[in-house]
Amino acid sequence: VKVAILAIGNEVLCGKIVDTNGAIISREIEKMGAKVVHREVVLDTVDDIVLGLNHAFLYADLVITIGGLGPTVDDLTRIGVADYFDEELVYDEAVFDEIALMFTSMGRVVTENNKQQAFRFKTGTVLKNDNGTAPGLMLKKDERQVFLLPGPPNELLPMFDKFVLPIIKEQVLEPVVSRSYRLHGIGESAAEDKIIHLYEKYQNLDIAPYCAVSYIDYVVSTKQVNESEIDDFEVEFFKILEQFYIGSAEVSLCARVVDELRKKKMMISVAESCTGGMLASNFIEIPGVSEVFFDGVVAYSNESKMARLGVMEQTLSDFGAVSSEVATEMALGILKDSKANVSVSITGVAGPDGGTSKKPVGTVYIGICINSDVFVEKFNFSGDREKIRNRAMNQALYELFKRLIDHKETL
Ligand code: ATP
Repeated sequence: VKVAILAIGNEVLCGKIVDTNGAIISREIEKMGAKVVHREVVLDTVDDIVLGLNHAFLYADLVITIGGLGPTVDDLTRIGVADYFDEELVYDEAVFDEIALMFTSMGRVVTENNKQQAFRFKTGTVLKNDNGTAPGLMLKKDERQVFLLPGPPNELLPMFDKFVLPIIKEQVLEPVVSRSYRLHGIGESAAEDKIIHLYEKYQNLDIAPYCAVSYIDYVVSTKQVNESEIDDFEVEFFKILEQFYIGSAEVSLCARVVDELRKKKMMISVAESCTGGMLASNFIEIPGVSEVFFDGVVAYSNESKMARLGVMEQTLSDFGAVSSEVATEMALGILKDSKANVSVSITGVAGPDGGTSKKPVGTVYIGICINSDVFVEKFNFSGDREKIRNRAMNQALYELFKRLIDHKETL
């Protein structure tokens, strides 16, 4: 099955909204073994929507539209699709009752213009939206099928899973299987260099690296009939790169760290300088983290490093705030009189100013303390301030992860 996606809206076209919906559902469709053959963003006018559908159906037999189902004058997707298919739109009282019910449950009052959302295609289907007021719609005519989904991701994604994916799955003749491998602590070219021969050897596999600022995901996919080849690939892949492997791409490194801490019944605190709370925030994004996360301190100034973390004035003046010695005292200091027994400290020069010849921009010290063992490492990260801070945070998680895993062996 060939799929096209049409994102509708001026705000998407001018870049105020990034079409993340299109990206997410494209990945899901490809994972299923179907092909996304066309994606387009169009203005929210009826003419542009019709033009977009003309393009989309040149390449695809199933089109998904995103957005433009709301109650305002610029929500014209229904009308555009009806025009394209020469289909009648009919007002459906039952649909309006559902919308009114949704408004009441949200403590809002339904208005006259919400009636616009109760129009459906005469020969089509209404797709219930459990998370918002705009129902989705489906229409199939001749060999062409269109799904109209609302723009907000929390509404679109569950509806896509419930109504669209099963239809695509039914039409996929050769299902695809895929596995992903996330690597930290190795760069893209070094990793590629080590496994380049595997591309040649496993020609039935699609081996695709996706690089982020601090990690690489290898996604390996193939037709279901060739699945055993992924097993063989995996054995060889691990032989070469296992030391960098932290798990599948679906689970973040921070979630892995939290798992390890939970397994070992340990509690963590973080002492941050240049990352300014990013590490703490990463932990706190994970639901249920209170079981393993005790506290975090952003000690940006020297005064704060002394007052909050007990870093010695002498250490700061002898070695400077960005030093192995200060990272050590920060990691130990945050654990003093605390319930936590694991800590991470980060101190570095994020730039663009503040670098010296001895400690250029990008110099970062990361300290890890597990029980009373302290490990400190120095790193030189490249990039702008944002990249350096991101890299420092991710490296700290990776250093912690490695040491927690090692710690298991010494238990
Ligand atoms: P509503 O009933 O909320 O108006 P709608 O179907 O009319 O829904 P739009 O008005 O087009 O959708 O967009 C509503 C919101 O959905 C946007 O403000 C934006 O936050 C989000 N959104 C729209 N299109 C996209 C997209 N392609 N990718 C990600 N988010 C999107």
